[in-house]
Amino acid sequence: MMRKEIAQLSEQYKGIFEECANQIWSTPELNFTEHKSHEAAKKCMEDLGFKVSMLPDMDTAFIATAGHGSPVIGILGELDALPGLSQKADCDHLDPVESGAPGHGCGHNLLGCGGMECAYILWKYLEENNMEGTIKYFSCPAEEGGVGKVYMIHRGAFDDVDFCVNWHPGAGFGITHDGKSIAIQNYRFHGIASHAAGMPEMGRSALDALELFNIGIQFIREHMTKDTYIHYAITNTGGFAANVVQAYAEGQYVVRAKDNTELKKMLVRLDKIAKGAAMMTETTVEGPELVSAFSSFIDNTVLADVARENIKACMPMEYTEEEKAYLEKFIAIGSKAGSGELLDNEIHEDQPTSSDVADVSWVVPTSMITVPTWAFGTAAHSWAATAQGKSSAAHKGMNLAAQLMANIALDMMAKPELIEAAKEEHKKNLRGRTYAEECLIDKDRKPVPIF
Ligand SMILES: [Zn+2]
Repeated sequence: MMRKEIAQLSEQYKGIFEECANQIWSTPELNFTEHKSHEAAKKCMEDLGFKVSMLPDMDTAFIATAGHGSPVIGILGELDALPGLSQKADCDHLDPVESGAPGHGCGHNLLGCGGMECAYILWKYLEENNMEGTIKYFSCPAEEGGVGKVYMIHRGAFDDVDFCVNWHPGAGFGITHDGKSIAIQNYRFHGIASHAAGMPEMGRSALDALELFNIGIQFIREHMTKDTYIHYAITNTGGFAANVVQAYAEGQYVVRAKDNTELKKMLVRLDKIAKGAAMMTETTVEGPELVSAFSSFIDNTVLADVARENIKACMPMEYTEEEKAYLEKFIAIGSKAGSGELLDNEIHEDQPTSSDVADVSWVVPTSMITVPTWAFGTAAHSWAATAQGKSSAAHKGMNLAAQLMANIALDMMAKPELIEAAKEEHKKNLRGRTYAEECLIDKDRKPVPIF
């Protein structure tokens, strides 16, 4: 009965959120500059009667509140796009709207509006059934690298929330249990420029230092835990003339580890290698400058079990013939081309997240699910995902996600002991660690765009 009523509410109001998702798709904006998308989402929630509040120093974040009393249910949403993923809607070959411009290649137009739809239908349901409960929709900026949610946590946004529900668009169903801690850091080497042949003895090469730093990193790979990764990009070689000793060189390093404790240990080791490289080359190293950092994901099996039952009840996705033909067009370009399947009928529970939703999971028990919006085999962060972001299949996934999250919340509310169990498990899985101590990003730091 409850699920049917939620489905009816979604059917009744979905047009509002589909329109808003299309609007956000057409104004793709990068981390912390999501002004048009933010205004569209905020206006939509205000028009629906939510009370909207803002957070200090964050002009593209808002909290929309409705209902009253306890429990307080958090719903997370995002609305940022990715650089270089501009693509014409529904087009199955690369054809950008504007070459090099941002695009919604991670489906955050759907993610945000699906969360807003969930908040609204849940509120309507509580009202119609005379139920108590406060709904808080969190419009979170800069998920892509900028970790907007970290700054929202630091501003106390989630302090009174009992549990959070969240979803991500994808090519299948999933439940998240895991996610690594990630740090993105810049290292800068400074040397002395000189004529490479005329006075080579006067030069001290920053580029040599950077190369030795990278070589040192290759050697520690043998002595790291299996779940640690280091990736790098040389972001500045110092110049294009080989007959100049390069006085400056810079690289960006992404380190992933099991949790923040392991991550911090790795970062100390990286610093030692950087200093060693500088010493060997008689250069200096500046930094590291912490660009961004994500925490590991704190699993909550109480919420995951409730999510699983709800997902199972609505599988498989039912598509119209037109939607099937549309998805087939995109399957051909996916990495799993030729499987002949429109969707796989499994709930994937083995895929870790690299999202700042994981940071929220440290302060509130959090459910994170994936719902299909794209053809099987479509990779997130691809132009093919951008292309499918306004389709009827994408909207269908978004509306289903809204219903699933509302049903998860209502199942939790129906049995208050489940909320208590989720909180107990949360406490147990933290093992005495606190977010304030573990988070790599300084509490006083202000949000900064990373690209
Ligand atoms: Zn995403």
